[in-house]
Amino acid sequence: GFAPASRISTIGVSEILKIGARAQAMKRDGKPVIILGAGEPDFDTPDHVKQAACDAIRSGKTKYTALDGTPELKQAIRDKFARENGVSYELDEITVATGAKQILFNAMMATLNRGDEVIIPTPYWTSYSDIVEIAEGKPVLIACDAQAGFRLKAEQLEAAITPKTRWVMLNSPSNPSGAAYSAGDYRPLLDVLLKHPHVWLLVDDMYEHIVYDDFQFVTPAALEPVLKSRTLTVNGVSKAYAMTGWRIGYAGGPRDLIKAMAVVQSQATSCPSSISQAASVAALNGPQEFLKERTESFQRRRDLVVSALNAIEGLDCRTPEGAFYTFSGCAGMLGKMTPGGKRIETDTDFCAYLLDDAHAAVVPGSAFGLSPFFRISYATSEAELREALTRIAKACAALR
Ligand code: PLP
Repeated sequence: GFAPASRISTIGVSEILKIGARAQAMKRDGKPVIILGAGEPDFDTPDHVKQAACDAIRSGKTKYTALDGTPELKQAIRDKFARENGVSYELDEITVATGAKQILFNAMMATLNRGDEVIIPTPYWTSYSDIVEIAEGKPVLIACDAQAGFRLKAEQLEAAITPKTRWVMLNSPSNPSGAAYSAGDYRPLLDVLLKHPHVWLLVDDMYEHIVYDDFQFVTPAALEPVLKSRTLTVNGVSKAYAMTGWRIGYAGGPRDLIKAMAVVQSQATSCPSSISQAASVAALNGPQEFLKERTESFQRRRDLVVSALNAIEGLDCRTPEGAFYTFSGCAGMLGKMTPGGKRIETDTDFCAYLLDDAHAAVVPGSAFGLSPFFRISYATSEAELREALTRIAKACAALR
């Protein structure tokens, strides 16, 4: 019979995909399910980006490219880092991969030896710990609760560092919490890292353009030049430019690390898609005004969702600074009985109830390493959001 390798044996199919599959199946059966689980913008890729891809195909940019990114795209990324983040990287300090997910994968495969530790604040994007485990490292999960704004505290970081610590992974704004680190939030953490030169910092800036209420996005390599020589700044076009399917992510970091990551990539994919790279050049070099408009639309939806959730007794939703997720506490629902006579013991039970009863698909905090919470993705129309929240409120009121 078949037996998987031990390196993947601890990694289950993601809870998010399981709920998604159940929700889709219910939809096929004619149930009016509203899916609030998707991690992608509901906008379309901008026309000028699509046009650049068509031009690339017609002009024969259809072959293997340089291993970790075309010179044109690396230049566009270099300009982006300088223009938007105030960080200067040389071209050989930049790498491009098939999504930021592959950037993370390359980085972990290139740096972790068996048992090396990676500090990951929770709630976290599930792939962080799974990728660390595939690379035979050890995720060290640190719970960051809602009272702390879902942010890691300096004392927690200090206490978690051991001689085996290789990386700390930070994500701002965060999937799933929407919490973001201001310069002031970052400072004490960077001060801790300055004292521990063997610890490297991976920052995932994927949602940098989706921030609200005049929040000032910053990235650590700009804040602390001393740490830049051991920081990997990860970003991508997926969320900012509604390009999830194009599969382009990128990073800036120290030359030796970037080179080692290219070794991994050379035996995995050879290079990212030539056509998607050409499209990404257009995205990064092209007009940026539409980002503001889209963010304003996300902010209206955030406000709608946060106030509707907080109006429900037993739920507690912190207002996120960015991304397109809310992460609400549901401790007040635990121990209650559903009209069908089932007791809600966990956030997973609560989410199963919302799917069955309210036909609203949301993801339990357990999928992100922090309970009892649940995540709503509000990257969907205001009409659908209103309908889903009305149903959720009704389902919650029916609990005894
Ligand atoms: N980082 C975070 C925090 C994410 O939420 C995602 C996607 O959900 C990614 C990275 C990966 O993005 P991609 O592989 O599409 O570039």
